[in-house]
Amino acid sequence: MQIDSAIAECINNVEFIQGRHVKIFEEAFSKYLNVQHVIGCANGTDAIYLALKALNVGYGDEVITAANSFIATSEAITMTGARVVFADVDPETNNISPEDVLSKISDKTKVLLPVCLYGLPVDIKSLNKIAEKYNLRVVADCAQAHGAEINGKSIAGMVDIATYSFFPGKNLGAFGDAGAVATNNSIIAEYVAKLRNHGRGGKYIHDFEGYNMRMDEIQGAILAVKLPFLRGWNQSRRELADIYSQRLNGIGDLKIYKEPEGLKSAYHLYVVETRYREELRKYLLEKGISTGIHYPIPLPVQPAYEYLKLKEADFPVSCNKAKKILSLPIFPEMDKEQHDYIIAYVIEFFKNKERNV
Ligand SMILES: *Cc1c(COP(=O)(O)O)cnc(C)c1O
Repeated sequence: MQIDSAIAECINNVEFIQGRHVKIFEEAFSKYLNVQHVIGCANGTDAIYLALKALNVGYGDEVITAANSFIATSEAITMTGARVVFADVDPETNNISPEDVLSKISDKTKVLLPVCLYGLPVDIKSLNKIAEKYNLRVVADCAQAHGAEINGKSIAGMVDIATYSFFPGKNLGAFGDAGAVATNNSIIAEYVAKLRNHGRGGKYIHDFEGYNMRMDEIQGAILAVKLPFLRGWNQSRRELADIYSQRLNGIGDLKIYKEPEGLKSAYHLYVVETRYREELRKYLLEKGISTGIHYPIPLPVQPAYEYLKLKEADFPVSCNKAKKILSLPIFPEMDKEQHDYIIAYVIEFFKNKERNV
């Protein structure tokens, strides 16, 4: 197997951290994204942190991000010393609402940190316009969106910095933790490359204090083997998503999301909405179908952010959706039989429901 021999090569080379395979992967991923620079690092959270540090974000600054993301996004903001500011999301895309972003801008705002949630690219045109007007930088958290496109192009080339996670469950997953920063800015790239590795400018030269946020060589080797398959895997996610959308459209009270014109989701997750979420979940589980909720408690109302004193009413879209969203199974290897089985039981659930009212 290609992966076995890639791992064996790392061992034979006696390279365990940030060696030639990491470099090969960085170059391949930058070609894939069509950006000038990719800098591998230890995980997706560190990638966001490194991106924010490269933009000089720290104490006294504010960073605006989406209320419905995974906590890693906002943790990375806090790690810099900056203050987390949440914005609500658009009801049709689940991504950060440019209007709500506008209402959250203050004279301390430095960076917009939108998240391409579930794999769908954010409305980057509107966000870039806001950023230009208020002189802000934009970092896109693409941890769920490897291969997502806007008019055929990766979002990584449309923002100051894009960050990726290769956590095993992502569209492109390592066999452990790994992440990357992508940018067309060579000054940022050079800085991040040093920052992740103790500020090293040479073997014994430290230009500044940095961190140990390097990518393991074995992860780099595995990612380099897997990357050529990513396009096909994403294609198969898209086909599954399209069939879900066609066959579940109009069933019960299900809300099906459509990709806005020009945006191509990487379908990290396939999410629907129903006010019978808990019942449907339980029903599907009885049939051996496990589903997920991403995420049941929006960040502003998590115990971790009690100190911000935010209320559900401040984030009506995120908080309302959190009660209804359901992630149906989606993974590239799913076969037609499995897919039909899931769809049939979702339809069956709503048929039973109609009969009972
Ligand atoms: C997975 C994920 C991260 C964090 O990635 P790690 O590699 O687990 O640190 C950040 N943001 C989002 C939206 C994610 O889904």
